[in-house]
Amino acid sequence: MTPVDRDRLATGGFQATLRHAVTVDVEQLRVQVYRTFAETGQPPSVEELAEVLGAETTEVRGGLRQLAQSRHLSLGADDAIVMAHPSSAVPLGFSVMSSDTLWWGGCAWDSFALPHLLGDQMRGAAQVLVATTCPACNRPHAWNVDRSGPPEGEQVAHFLIPAAHMWDNVVHTCGHQRLFCSASCLEAWLARTGNVRGYVLDLGALWRLAAHWYDDRLEYGYTRREPADATDYMRAVGLSGSFWGL
Ligand SMILES: [Zn+2]
Ligand SMILES: [Zn+2]
Repeated sequence: MTPVDRDRLATGGFQATLRHAVTVDVEQLRVQVYRTFAETGQPPSVEELAEVLGAETTEVRGGLRQLAQSRHLSLGADDAIVMAHPSSAVPLGFSVMSSDTLWWGGCAWDSFALPHLLGDQMRGAAQVLVATTCPACNRPHAWNVDRSGPPEGEQVAHFLIPAAHMWDNVVHTCGHQRLFCSASCLEAWLARTGNVRGYVLDLGALWRLAAHWYDDRLEYGYTRREPADATDYMRAVGLSGSFWGL
């Protein structure tokens, strides 16, 4: 029984309100998921969320599904949170390490976004170490990423799935937003896998894309951006072409 239910029992109102017992506040649930994931590197479980919000697990599950439907997060089996961008519960080729927290970095875009989103709230996250391997040749790469400017490097980011289809299967999409040693490693990978070239960004373009994409995501009242509709943002950070719907 939740504390609210106990109050209702005490006041004799339980029977009348049982049918409409505690409905989880979906925005509160969203913020709780995002903040826990950001602060710990791990998504909260349904049971943990129910405990913190004083709700039933069925209500939490319903709220999570609503959030997944509106693309605030991605759910796996048994309503487990797989992604709440830029945090990921599954490895997609990147690790991101601050002085005291370790995240699976989601994709290249998400990994570069973490210090921008968390730098103000978590002192240790203002600079992170982003690490990955080249999908073509397996060479390791790592950069210190912070908010002062793009890291140095000749590597190139490649996004396979166009903006209009990024949410068709977002885990697949993020899994194919990777960093390669060079244009020639990317060409070798495209030839080997039979994939069609998507969009190529240098580290500066990737950093600018990531810098403000997730602004305010940990706050109440956040309005999410849909990649295909965010044309002003994409133009402002220097992107162009049909891949972005521009
Ligand atoms: Zn390579
Ligand atoms: Zn991603």
